[in-house]
Amino acid sequence: MLPSDVMKKAQHEMLDWQGSSMSVMEMSHRGVEYTSIAKQAEADLREVMAIPDNYAVLFLSSGASAQFSMIPMNLLRGKKKADYFNTGSWSRKAIAEAKRYCEVNIVSDSTDNNFTTIADKSTWQFSADAAYVHYTVNETIHGLEFDDIPDTGDIPLVADLSSTILSRPIDVSRFGLIYAGAQKNIGPAGLCIVIVRRDLLGDTLAGTPTLCDYKVQDESGSMHNTPATYSWYLSGLVFDWVKQLGGLTAMADINKRKADKLYAAIDASSFYNNPVDKRYRSWMNIPFTLTDNSLEADFLAQAKEHGLLTLKGHKEVGGIRASIYNAMPEKGVDALINFMATFEQKHG
Ligand SMILES: *Cc1c(COP(=O)(O)O)cnc(C)c1O
Repeated sequence: MLPSDVMKKAQHEMLDWQGSSMSVMEMSHRGVEYTSIAKQAEADLREVMAIPDNYAVLFLSSGASAQFSMIPMNLLRGKKKADYFNTGSWSRKAIAEAKRYCEVNIVSDSTDNNFTTIADKSTWQFSADAAYVHYTVNETIHGLEFDDIPDTGDIPLVADLSSTILSRPIDVSRFGLIYAGAQKNIGPAGLCIVIVRRDLLGDTLAGTPTLCDYKVQDESGSMHNTPATYSWYLSGLVFDWVKQLGGLTAMADINKRKADKLYAAIDASSFYNNPVDKRYRSWMNIPFTLTDNSLEADFLAQAKEHGLLTLKGHKEVGGIRASIYNAMPEKGVDALINFMATFEQKHG
């Protein structure tokens, strides 16, 4: 979902952005109007996430998956090895891509527990000569989320924050690089935010395409070529919306309440199940199954009739998944919980 206030603002400005006689979609990305939109969006994101000045903030149109390759291209810096956590489908994809560029050491692997928990940190196997350590903070498909930031000492920590960025405060200074596809918890598809410590840039792998060089992107203000202007603009409206709401601390309170409620409803019933270790349960993506899984199709069809949409689990794992990103209002979660109770009464 996108916040309806943001959609209304975009609708209001659609044909004529602030008296410019242009839609944002019609503007040159180098014009004064668009430049002000782009700069404001970056300033608001920097403020909301408290991003230190020695970090670049990039607005790239290549998506989160493209970072799976751009990260080794930019951050290996002559080294031959990188450390990766394997905690779910997105980690696995990042690992497969990194293997094209370097040796990958797996720090911890959740394959054997079906991605329902993360092994204790005393078992983690870091390598001393890794160029960086990569982890997926929230596994969107499995609903598995780290409850803490791994301590990697002087080795830069790289985080895929696609489905949990802006859901709560995070200490950016603990990271070498953070990336997030906008379409989960920020704005519309077509944009990927990269936040990277500038001292790590400038030593790319030979053959790295110009557009994949973070330093080139930083020095051109993410405008070496035409960026995804409208997605950038809409994301800016979302950053402002988060600010007006009270920032990430306020956002975290709302998100925690929403997630706690839904997990409590699932756990209180033997009709619904969520297999994830309580300590590592996602605040954003809550997958669950019906004990009698033959009722799933019926559940989804009736949910749709109640205006509860896109609840089908990812094709890789099946079941049901409630993605309750920032823009999902608390009353949306309440409506789902009520529907689940009614469905259970009828079929349980
Ligand atoms: C969706 C998602 C991606 C992939 O995003 P694209 O922008 O489609 O490439 C990567 N990582 C995580 C954690 C995701 O949820």
